[in-house]
Amino acid sequence: MNHSFIRIHTILASLFITVLIVAAPGAMIAAGQDFGFDFDDFNLISVEDEIEIGKELSKEVESEYQLYPDNEVQRYVRELGKRVAPSAPNADNIPLSVKVIKDDEVNAFTIPGGYIYINSGLIRRVDTEAELVGVIAHEMGHAVKRHGTEQLTQIMGVNMVMGLFLGSDAPDWQYLVGDLFSSVGLLAYGRDNELQADRLAVRITHAAGYDATQFLTFMYKLQDLEDSEPSALTELFSTHPSTSERITNIKTEISQLDTKNTRPIVNTRNFNNMKRRIR
Ligand code: ZN
Repeated sequence: MNHSFIRIHTILASLFITVLIVAAPGAMIAAGQDFGFDFDDFNLISVEDEIEIGKELSKEVESEYQLYPDNEVQRYVRELGKRVAPSAPNADNIPLSVKVIKDDEVNAFTIPGGYIYINSGLIRRVDTEAELVGVIAHEMGHAVKRHGTEQLTQIMGVNMVMGLFLGSDAPDWQYLVGDLFSSVGLLAYGRDNELQADRLAVRITHAAGYDATQFLTFMYKLQDLEDSEPSALTELFSTHPSTSERITNIKTEISQLDTKNTRPIVNTRNFNNMKRRIR
């Protein structure tokens, strides 16, 4: 566990308390119902604003964390992301990019605007390109469903978000939102969003021509790690939903794939070459 991680969690503690006080959850839910929306998919932040927020946040993330200092590794993962992205249901036109962070914890995360980060500690524990694609596809699922800004809408409350974005003279909103995400945004998205991202991961992986059962293989590895090396996992992986619930959900999704006449990719030489460079 490094200093930046601790720092983020310290900011998190203070901000999260502030947010809880400000947000008045009861009022939020009432407002959501009044608008006649399914509150689960309620997002008041436009795609354009999300992309702006993401641009600012990505700078914060990349100063807080060290990007993996190997151009070959970054290039491989960036290109892999580009190959998989067209298979994501990118209805909202969120651009998708993938970078590697130098960090031993088994983790990956997505911030608004489609910025996806994979820890080197996670790459060390995947054994095939299809496994890595599964993880990237899970993060792409969060990105295209805009779970980050959806969560922001819920956490901050309808009134506050509307005030911030409708009265856009206030230049402070970018800072406020940036602060929120560098803390709260790195938390888990919640049960339903995680299960949805897992289902999308299966579909995206399959549509990209990869063996989706390899994502299941990765989940079994996570389950083993929970027992053998719990310190290698961040809170993100130990919160709800449980890994066993995720596995059941993923299996159901895989059973619904049309796998006739397909010879999905499991691994490539490029993946093996890249992996040798990860220390
Ligand atoms: Zn997730």
